[in-house]
Amino acid sequence: MILVLDPAITPSQREALDSFLAGSGATVRENRGGRGDLVVLTSNPGGVTAEEFQARSGVLKAVSAGQEFVHAAREFHPENTVIRVGGAEIGGKELLLAAGPCAVESEAQMEACARAVSAAGGRILRGGSFKPRTSPYSFQGLGAEGLRIHREVADRHGLLMMSEVLDREDLALVAGVADILQVGSRNMQNFPLLKALGRQSKPVLLKRGLASTREEFLLAAEYILSEGNGQVILCERGIRSFDPSLRNSLDLASVVLLKEMTHLPVLVDPSHATGRHRLVLPMARAAAVCGADGLLLEVHPEPAKALSDGPQAILPADLMALSEDLRVLAPVVGRTFGAPA
Ligand code: PEP
Ligand code: MN
Repeated sequence: MILVLDPAITPSQREALDSFLAGSGATVRENRGGRGDLVVLTSNPGGVTAEEFQARSGVLKAVSAGQEFVHAAREFHPENTVIRVGGAEIGGKELLLAAGPCAVESEAQMEACARAVSAAGGRILRGGSFKPRTSPYSFQGLGAEGLRIHREVADRHGLLMMSEVLDREDLALVAGVADILQVGSRNMQNFPLLKALGRQSKPVLLKRGLASTREEFLLAAEYILSEGNGQVILCERGIRSFDPSLRNSLDLASVVLLKEMTHLPVLVDPSHATGRHRLVLPMARAAAVCGADGLLLEVHPEPAKALSDGPQAILPADLMALSEDLRVLAPVVGRTFGAPA
């Protein structure tokens, strides 16, 4: 349980709370994150209930286990978090477009993608150099060489670079090069990695786990936030369903619910959510009008030759067509799209 204290708690109210806690036998630990107004209970042998804690003066709310995403919760932080990185604003009025290949394969491939992203009004060039592949025999990414290509091409086109960190071992390398660090679905609950990401300062794009609830997703974000890094972007990328005809099932209702539950930006990735390129544009349009702060898409100049996720890659021309649609749709939901950086 976490006690969220009233920021205006008086010294005597705090003293009274501390002696109440000591009398109950509860042990507490300091919160090391951004907020100073939290008391984290590490044990509560007296079985004091949330209601009893909440009745103490100076306690705003006692939050029970499973709901302890106090840094992520809109309840305690009503205004949207806007992440500003290299001239882009994520979570602000602009609908953000991030696109690129699943994996960085070559300079020519990245060039073609960057040209398409930039022409379509995108801000971020995505691309993995450390790839989480289902089979150990599949292409695993170019590693450091991929990061180098990605950085050069992104800079040439005035785009931000986003790349996945697969392991704590690679964190310093990727964080030294990329502007935004991606945590993939399979790592959403890699808690040591999340803690390490919380102790560095680059923004983190956290993808929803393959079968994670919204609460688990927000608690994963909480691992990063509570360590002091407030720049977390959430990404809905589909969840596993009973239906094998789609790679995943895009959960747009969760986008709406997450925007209510949290102040953090929420992007939608319709590429992994569907696994089929024909479904990507319709789902991207739906995401844009249901309240997503932006889109994350896989694009490839020659999908048939892609070393990973070819079936879900759209072509540069598709990205351009989507961009025309977003120019029309963004104002419908009070957003801008494709304004000069
Ligand atoms: C990716 O973005 O290429 C990726 C591996 O996504 P996810 O973690 O959502 O499967
Ligand atoms: Mn992919």
